[in-house]
Amino acid sequence: MKAVLVIADGLGGRPSDCQGRSCLEAARTPTLDELAHRGAVGLVDPIRHGVRPGSDTAHLSLLGYDPYEVYTGRGAFECLGIGMKVVCGDVCFRANFATAEAVSDGLRVLDRRAGRIDAGQQLLAEALDGIALRSDREITFEFRASTQHRGALVLRGPGLSRHVSENDPHEAGVLIPDSRPLINDEAAERTASLVDELTRKSFEAWDDHPVNRDRRAAGEPPANVLLLRGAAELPDLASIEKLYGVRSAVVAGGALYRGVALAAGMASIPCPGATGGLDTDLRAKAAAAVEALVAHDCVFVHIKGTDNAGHDRDADAKTRFIERIDGEFFAPLIEQLDVGSTHIAFTGDHTTPIDFGDHVADPVPVLFVGPNVMPDVCDCFDERSAGNGGLGRFAGRVLPMLLGYCNWSPKFGS
Ligand code: ZN
Ligand code: ZN
Repeated sequence: MKAVLVIADGLGGRPSDCQGRSCLEAARTPTLDELAHRGAVGLVDPIRHGVRPGSDTAHLSLLGYDPYEVYTGRGAFECLGIGMKVVCGDVCFRANFATAEAVSDGLRVLDRRAGRIDAGQQLLAEALDGIALRSDREITFEFRASTQHRGALVLRGPGLSRHVSENDPHEAGVLIPDSRPLINDEAAERTASLVDELTRKSFEAWDDHPVNRDRRAAGEPPANVLLLRGAAELPDLASIEKLYGVRSAVVAGGALYRGVALAAGMASIPCPGATGGLDTDLRAKAAAAVEALVAHDCVFVHIKGTDNAGHDRDADAKTRFIERIDGEFFAPLIEQLDVGSTHIAFTGDHTTPIDFGDHVADPVPVLFVGPNVMPDVCDCFDERSAGNGGLGRFAGRVLPMLLGYCNWSPKFGS
């Protein structure tokens, strides 16, 4: 038996998306409709009724974890997702290259994304390497650039705390705020002052760096300061292998989703062409999933573009991308899998309606298909049909349900 979990980020929609129909309803999806015909559909509240999900917390919940118990912030997933080593006690941050100017009372942000810098980040990261942190010689840090203005930072050493405020002001024209301890505790105070120190030292190391001299000469904003947010420790997750005794893997273009899966003990399958955007190579992802199933029992595939189109409030882009998921991902996937011995689950991690442009608490359609799934009467995969589906409405835990159809669930009780 093999299992495939596919999550299209922000898949869910509302009637207001396309004049009375959601994007999923408006999209032509013959493959998904055929799978709905052969399987069963329903509605899932990614976390629980009435909770507006973040992508990280929703994924934890859909994978079977209780985010209220295990979630420690986004930074650790970002660090893991871009291949950094994270150990217990580290505090991880999401980082931005930003543009700032020195003023009398601090540093003022001019551009939070340094003009979406797309070259030279590696050289800037190297210029931070080896900088000693003032008071705390026993504290080390590692900074790594990822895509464009994004990066991640790990602080390592004794007595650190994730309970510190971010110093990203989320707007331009204002001073970079000091990081503050969020609890009354020496470790939080120390970590907050380290965040401030790192930000100051990044400005010292970068403002006159050759990369930025070139950027200024070309009329581009310098990437001269580091903003830090999403402080997190490594969450304590029992691995999928420990919980279910199966080998699992992830195919994802976005670092966050790879990070969540890695924290759950999945192996990351490289997939060139998976961009985490609307331009991703969906056929390559289907091929990577099929390949992953040779050495693994279960593969989780994350597809991000649906959410990007939702945040961009672009109904056409979301509808077209759903049609591509149908034709370029699911069609080749089921052609290459042995459908007699594979269970597939497909859902979203939340609803991202076009007119709202952000995540809402509405439930998301979910589909299960495979030899052990009792088919229901629905033969269409969308929000409206899913409301009449045989699976009813439930909260989270899609992966445990999928593994249950494969007969891999441990028994609770005797
Ligand atoms: Zn999401
Ligand atoms: Zn989103």
